[in-house]
Amino acid sequence: MNPVDLLVKAEFLYPVSEGMPIISNGEVAVIGTRIVYAGPAMPSGHWQPKNTLGGPGKIVLPGFVNCHSHAASLIFRSQTDDHAAKAALLDVAFRMEKDVTEADWSLLGALGCADMLLSGITTINDIWYSPETLVESVLQSGLRAQIANKVFDVKLEELRNGDYTHHQAIGEKRLRHGIEFVETWHGAADGRITGRIGTHATDTCSSALLKEARLEATRLGVGMHIHAAQSASEAEHIKAAHGCGPVEYLRDVGMLAPDVVLAHLVFAEEADFDAIVSCNANYAHCPTIYPRRGRYPQFEKIIAKGIKTGFATDWMLNDPFEGMRYAINAMRLCLGGPHAMTCDQALRFHTLGAAQVLGLDHEIGSLEVGKKADLIVVDINQPHLQPYYGSYAAFVYYAKSSDVVDTVIDGKVVMHERHITGLNHHSTLEQLQKRVPGWRSQLSSLGSPAVFGPGCDCCGLV
Ligand SMILES: [Zn+2]
Repeated sequence: MNPVDLLVKAEFLYPVSEGMPIISNGEVAVIGTRIVYAGPAMPSGHWQPKNTLGGPGKIVLPGFVNCHSHAASLIFRSQTDDHAAKAALLDVAFRMEKDVTEADWSLLGALGCADMLLSGITTINDIWYSPETLVESVLQSGLRAQIANKVFDVKLEELRNGDYTHHQAIGEKRLRHGIEFVETWHGAADGRITGRIGTHATDTCSSALLKEARLEATRLGVGMHIHAAQSASEAEHIKAAHGCGPVEYLRDVGMLAPDVVLAHLVFAEEADFDAIVSCNANYAHCPTIYPRRGRYPQFEKIIAKGIKTGFATDWMLNDPFEGMRYAINAMRLCLGGPHAMTCDQALRFHTLGAAQVLGLDHEIGSLEVGKKADLIVVDINQPHLQPYYGSYAAFVYYAKSSDVVDTVIDGKVVMHERHITGLNHHSTLEQLQKRVPGWRSQLSSLGSPAVFGPGCDCCGLV
């Protein structure tokens, strides 16, 4: 009899280890925060567990890793989805963000963390406002998180008028805040929480700010996080100002390094990809966002060049199951064939691949002996999943985020039977819904085309 803290049994176990094996009748044993066994079920009585999860009708896999997120951004749900990136960001989001209070970001961040956990996500890499309030929800929910304060030095609300003036005072203040956050929180909760320096984008930070941020990140021993080549206007702005692509520009100012996460690359070109390769930087690919805007990154090129890549949700739709399916469908449409991306590749990008992007693949992303016990249990006893034959296609095409029943992070059960143990998201929802009328009128006053104002004539809604 071998005493363990937790034993998780699976009808099918997907460890996402070398060769992507599928283990029928598998199990994972955990002592403390770490995995001590992951493989075929041992004979009955081999383990003496304090706690058990899973069993027949359950599958077990690593928790999803979300390598680019904005947990509190869900305030903009439905407000930016049907517009080009420029209008969505510049006309609505950038002008509204500055008036959202800390209390509101706190509520939104709490709901975002609940949303992530309910979707099977166990690690996030977040860049946004008010990182201190997000860290509170991360601590309570049990999520693993890398967090960065959003650093920029333009007046975001002026970008829609073409005003990209860099204000040193804004940049200094936001960078100081980011540094203080890292100094306070990096390594907290036994290393479950780490910090990054989050320079917002190539066109919203001056080169002086990017250089200073790089120096500070290196001094602090943390990585960096940035949006790059996310919109046509950004690519045009960098081309006009510096005569190169957005990622080439980041290389030229000395920011690119193996600890940098670049989100998007939708408008990146060959020379940008080569810059990433030469500096061994990382790519966060957000499959649900791009098709809505009608343009997909040159993903096959990015993969062919060997750039370290992981999947991410970006904002609002925090659903890795949707993400995997969007990516497969988009790639097959782009390349005109059914073999452009396989289901096991998609799952790997959202687990081990994303962990690699965050520099955490030695700790998480797969279920292997010695790694942290970050895993999810999925209930396959469902009409939309049966008959379940166990292949990657059975899981990736048919499972839903609502099928995730249990979640373990750092060896601790943080969600059981879809009840999040550390966060009361029902009370968060109740409080948040009281704020909706206020947000609706704020959006309305900004001229958001996607909000129904009071007494809307065309539909009679009030
Ligand atoms: Zn983003």
